[in-house]
Amino acid sequence: MGHSKLSKTKTVKASTGPTPMMVQYLALKAKATDCLLFYRMGDFFELFFDDAKAAAETLDIALTSRGEHDGAPIPMCGVPVHSAEGYLAKLIKAGHRVAIAEQTESPIEARARGGSKTLVARDIVRFVTAGTLTEDSLLDSWANNMLVAVSEVASDFGNNIGIAAADISTGYFEILSVEPGALFAELARLNPSELVVPDGFSVARMDAIIRPRVDFDSQLGAAALNGYFAGTHANFASLNRAEMAAIGGLFAYLAHVGQGQMPFLKLPEQRITGGHLRIDQATRDSLEITAAQRGGRAGSLLQEVDRCVTGAGSRLLASDLGAPLMDQRAIEERLALVGWFHDTPLLRDNLRDGLRALPDIARALGRVAAGRGGPRDLAQLRDGLDGGRILKERLAVMAQRPVLLDQLLPALDGHGELVDMLFRALIAMPPTEAGQGGYIAAGYDAALDALRATARDGRQAIAALENNYRERTGIAALKIRHNAVLGYFVEVPARYGDALMIAGSGFAHRQTMAGAVRFNSPELHDEALRIIQAGDHALAAEAAHLEELIAFALARREQIAASADVLARIDVAAGFAERAALGNWCRPSFDAAPILQIDGGRHPVVESALAKSGDRFISNDCNLDDTARLWLVSGPNMGGKSTFLRQNALIVLLAQAGSYVPATSARMGIVDRLFSRVGASDNLAQGQSTFMVEMVETAAILAQATPQSFVILDEVGRGTSTYDGLAIAWAVVEGIHETNRCRCLFATHYHELSRLSETLNALSLHHVRAKEYKGDLVLLHELGIGPADRSYGIAVAKLAGMPPAVLARAHSVLERLEKGRADTGGLAAGLGDLPLFSAALDAAEAKVDAVRDRLADLDIDALSPRAALDLLYELKIAAAKN
Ligand code: ATP
Repeated sequence: MGHSKLSKTKTVKASTGPTPMMVQYLALKAKATDCLLFYRMGDFFELFFDDAKAAAETLDIALTSRGEHDGAPIPMCGVPVHSAEGYLAKLIKAGHRVAIAEQTESPIEARARGGSKTLVARDIVRFVTAGTLTEDSLLDSWANNMLVAVSEVASDFGNNIGIAAADISTGYFEILSVEPGALFAELARLNPSELVVPDGFSVARMDAIIRPRVDFDSQLGAAALNGYFAGTHANFASLNRAEMAAIGGLFAYLAHVGQGQMPFLKLPEQRITGGHLRIDQATRDSLEITAAQRGGRAGSLLQEVDRCVTGAGSRLLASDLGAPLMDQRAIEERLALVGWFHDTPLLRDNLRDGLRALPDIARALGRVAAGRGGPRDLAQLRDGLDGGRILKERLAVMAQRPVLLDQLLPALDGHGELVDMLFRALIAMPPTEAGQGGYIAAGYDAALDALRATARDGRQAIAALENNYRERTGIAALKIRHNAVLGYFVEVPARYGDALMIAGSGFAHRQTMAGAVRFNSPELHDEALRIIQAGDHALAAEAAHLEELIAFALARREQIAASADVLARIDVAAGFAERAALGNWCRPSFDAAPILQIDGGRHPVVESALAKSGDRFISNDCNLDDTARLWLVSGPNMGGKSTFLRQNALIVLLAQAGSYVPATSARMGIVDRLFSRVGASDNLAQGQSTFMVEMVETAAILAQATPQSFVILDEVGRGTSTYDGLAIAWAVVEGIHETNRCRCLFATHYHELSRLSETLNALSLHHVRAKEYKGDLVLLHELGIGPADRSYGIAVAKLAGMPPAVLARAHSVLERLEKGRADTGGLAAGLGDLPLFSAALDAAEAKVDAVRDRLADLDIDALSPRAALDLLYELKIAAAKN
């Protein structure tokens, strides 16, 4: 696109001081120093100076120059207004912010104001930032786009963090406060695109774009919130100071970004900490809940589960999986709805077809409320709300409706008046932009119809005039044409030009072209005037109707948003049902006791991946209860240990999110916190060694897991030397068993740990089975009772294609090592004499408690490697003293 700008390049003239336009540009730029300024000039947004260089590079468009400033040419590039969205998307993705400066008056108005040379007034009308988008083309339909503000307030009980989060493309708004240690888990759940924080607040390790700001004021926040929701009867007395400060920061930022125009926000949802299953960042990453570890949605649990047919459904699903519930009744209500759809496949298909056809009401409302809505958005509201009503009528007559459905359905009603009005007012498929008119339906406004008829008659009259002129002049090639510069004119080929030039011909010369000559005539002038006036008046009438319709729709925005939420909830439930039916999943049930009984459990993502290559997933049982809270799982590499651990964590997560689960049966006690420490992940980029990260995360689990928690630990200790690693793994298993007393699956290659089953009564031993067949290893991926007989490491190395010479050498080294171990009584023999962790615990209780207290509010993300190392040493010393 950039090349088209070349023609606009002006030759450099010697100038005296900046031009008035440059003065205006620089004044606007001063208000947007951290943004690229899109400066509207006719049909283009132009960028100048460094903005132009940055944009030209990111967008790969031509950089040109225009005039000069301080003696040097001014770099310039531009994008056409009609295709600006695509360019905006690229710039925002690249981390830029963009300020849009529009012309705030027409050239005619400018001339009327200050004479022919007057510059058109311009002003910044909006800042476009990653967290404040509403355009469909800039957003993923299936993902929320969160803007989050965080504030910290000191109190007598330690610091309190307030969080205010909004997705302005749909009006979603939530508020909560947490202790500092829990901030990162919440941010991980919210996954913001843009994070607004007080100046100087440290938020290392976030993918979000960070905006430090100063306007976090709880009193201003309270005033802004109460002002915004003044029309409702909402009462915000229960919000604390930290929450109000976060709201203050959020509202101030939104007001700045929209230049005073506030977007639509629903009444805030007040999240209670402890209301949902807590999952820290490390666990989210390792379980690949909403994104795979290599980045992106593909390969994540979300992608695997998502059978929603609407963008709003997918967005709600992502937030459901990010924040599974703790309240058994609420979970059962969701499951009952899923179950109902599961058991009525025809209804489900039918319903999903209906939902699929519905437009994204929430996003359309977001645009309308942000002042960027057009006729198409209103038509989407009309069609979406009407579709919702039809769907409601269909569901409301069904027998044995689940409770949740009856709670949801009423919100789909009550839009009749608005929908009727929109049906009468708008054509079936109106244009996105209002500029060209033509979207108000015939018959809605008699005056508008008359104007359109006038314009139509005028066009017919012009056609008649053309015939008339042809006959009168005898020039068959005579045409009446129209363009933007001249308006209507008579055109004849050049060779007839002279014939019409003569006085008294009734034609007045306007323009001579290479092959044609153009004329005006009094009759044509009159007809053209009629058409143009009627057209202008029709456009104005349509615009007035649009404004009225928008106001009418916005008066019901809360109810419209509620309908959108209900449709999304129904889509999620039907999608879960579809997924369950496709995969033969079962409905989980719940128990007051902290058990986890999974029969025939499968890992949904691995199962799908295997199915694609025609392989079958081997299902496995898991049975944790009071007599066996902790399973130690050993067996060969590649045997399926990690998969088994993760599948059970995912089943817990799915169940509490209200989904069926990939198993033949599942019964469990509600889990309060889920922890996963799987594999040694490299965090070198963030300045921590793999082993350090592993230890820091394990320390956090030991400090935070409760008897209601579920923990999976995969090969803890493998990142260091064998003896150190074994010692740590040993102590960790004891700690989890004796102190945390949570449900736990612990995978390990340290056979020596099997000895722990002699002293720890709720620990049970399991292994993934393998067989050696004619010298080759066969992995059965099947869980057996008892410890593994050996580790098969070298057999796996052979499978991997290790050279035979290296394999032979490894065999002989192993033989020597095993002989040495037998001679000295073996590693495990020495450990068997260790006093039991619990027996010595009392004596060291004070010491351990002190360490625990410090670990309790351990914020992994904020901990420096040095501080973590110190803590570890203390932990080690405390353990050694036992
Ligand atoms: P390591 O000790 O090397 O980490 P592991 O025992 O943890 O290995 P996994 O990573 O869980 O092994 O599994 C290795 C591969 O085996 C998986 O990628 C999958 O293809 C296959 N696999 C695992 N479990 C099963 C299963 N239950 N049924 C079929 N295939 C499986």
